[in-house]
Amino acid sequence: MYKEFLVSPGPTCVPPDTLLLMANPLYHHRTERFDELFYQTSEKLKKLFKTKEDVYILTSSGTGAMEASFVNLINKNDKIITINAGKFGERWTDFAKRYGAIADEIEVEWGKSVDISIIQEKLKNDKDIKAVFVQHSETSTGALHDIKSIASITKNTDTLLIVDAITSLGVHPLEMDEWGIDCVVSGSQKALMLPPGLGLISLSKKAYEASKNVTTAKFYFDLESARKNLAKKTTTFTPATTLIIGLNDILDKLFNEGLENVYARHENIALATRSGCDALGMKLFAENPSNGVTSALAPKGIEGKKIKSTMEKKYKISIAGSQDVPKADIIRIGHIGYYDKSDIVVTLSALEFALKDLGHEFEFGVSLIEAQKVLYKGTK
Ligand SMILES: *Cc1c(COP(=O)(O)O)cnc(C)c1O
Repeated sequence: MYKEFLVSPGPTCVPPDTLLLMANPLYHHRTERFDELFYQTSEKLKKLFKTKEDVYILTSSGTGAMEASFVNLINKNDKIITINAGKFGERWTDFAKRYGAIADEIEVEWGKSVDISIIQEKLKNDKDIKAVFVQHSETSTGALHDIKSIASITKNTDTLLIVDAITSLGVHPLEMDEWGIDCVVSGSQKALMLPPGLGLISLSKKAYEASKNVTTAKFYFDLESARKNLAKKTTTFTPATTLIIGLNDILDKLFNEGLENVYARHENIALATRSGCDALGMKLFAENPSNGVTSALAPKGIEGKKIKSTMEKKYKISIAGSQDVPKADIIRIGHIGYYDKSDIVVTLSALEFALKDLGHEFEFGVSLIEAQKVLYKGTK
């Protein structure tokens, strides 16, 4: 018997009917038919980003969209603030190093969320800071940053706020225009329930104006070129047609369910997963956890990577391990996108099997009992 199940925080499960749609024979992208689909999909993305601005669909993984934000908004020697609360936050500082920007990195203890007053203080003391780069949901630790509050600091200043929303867009409420975020970045293989391969990005008017004075070398990720082509309902280079066909379908699914219901579903299954881990004596790692991923410490004496490999090899359930988190041994369970109540039951059951195999002592079913109580509330 070989039945696999993916519960990682990306890539995530793709709805089977969307997969079938993407298996249809290809058609050419320089056609009226594709132009229309592309344009409609881009329009629908505005509803998800909660913006009136263009959303560009790039052919790249999420990091490509992160890089696009950087090369279109930052010049060499620009001063920026980067928030390093995990593996993905670290990446902003890496961009700064490569492109010669001057990064004032706020190092946050991994598992924690950034203290807003530190950002406030830095921006008050230095008016030349061009931009703040942050994750909404730091997938490597499972922590959520308070973007609305950060945006309230940058909103009426010249400083830009760039948010990596790769595991939050479609999981947590995010209001690009209303909160005053200047750039939102996302990708296909997380909450958008698609295979990897699309990067998404939108710029506020403030960011667009700033981009006109940026001379950093770029070719593939030149958003001015994307902007001109989107106005003609097309792309500069060959788009990932198959994934865009899938994305169009996924956006319909999200709006049919209703974004508020989508957020509530994620909250419910996240709460249930946390209760399940807690019942097994696995402490939560993130102080202010994201509803997209549950990170929990392996029980004393048991290695996190053994839990992950046992679940994967013996029980065919793929969770994620630690992404270089220092001094803490964590596992990460993803519940982003195409997941519902029963998926959490299956996952916790396999987690219990693996923990039993590895010698952890607990009563079978304890995590399921606690999770089910929470999940049942979500049916009301
Ligand atoms: C997945 C992810 C990325 C992008 O990673 P890719 O491998 O390039 O798609 C960036 N930031 C966060 C928070 C992520 O979860």
